[in-house]
Amino acid sequence: MDALLALLFPDRCVGCGHLGALFCPTCRAALRPYPLDDPPPGLDAMLVPWLYAGPLRQAIHRMKYRSQRRLAAPLGDLLAEALRRQPQPADAIIPVPLHATRLAERGFNQSSELAARIARATGLPLVSGLERCRDTGHQAQLGRRERHDNIAAAFVWNVYTPPPARVLLVDDVLTTGATLVACGDALRAVGTQEVRAVALARSLAPAQKMIQ
Ligand SMILES: [Zn+2]
Repeated sequence: MDALLALLFPDRCVGCGHLGALFCPTCRAALRPYPLDDPPPGLDAMLVPWLYAGPLRQAIHRMKYRSQRRLAAPLGDLLAEALRRQPQPADAIIPVPLHATRLAERGFNQSSELAARIARATGLPLVSGLERCRDTGHQAQLGRRERHDNIAAAFVWNVYTPPPARVLLVDDVLTTGATLVACGDALRAVGTQEVRAVALARSLAPAQKMIQ
């Protein structure tokens, strides 16, 4: 069946349109690295390898807003590769959850899809229990302060068993990191000791970051 589908709908690179792969080696090689950065207060480490730009931006956008779920495979593998180069100690992987309303709209959580690929590559368990209990709307339209207030109490640990001691959070794109910090706070409140995070791309340009 897969072979038939591949014949009918051959993989085409989201960056350049070439046949053969969803995200071709040329476009992968052209990814723009995001400068190394201190993690925001509340996170023990944060690995965000690339800038949210060019073919990577297109790929993430298609995955999320045009429901091209299968793009999560090559994108998740990119993150797994980055983690091989810069390993982050953790007992388990937890994706940044979507609110139930958003999950119903999109049909899948892109962070869970990425996290599943990382779990496969690292052998770490994928753990659920973190819930987004508030629909925080479209963060992209908010300023830094508003984002923080909007997101601060949006997450809760919703199972009776305690969360893992060392967690690796997975997200697709981040701007200030407020969402990851809020997830980390919710986990620490119920016993997690160390919170690290990995995301594909950062949407804040390095120059902008320095001004703030
Ligand atoms: Zn390409």
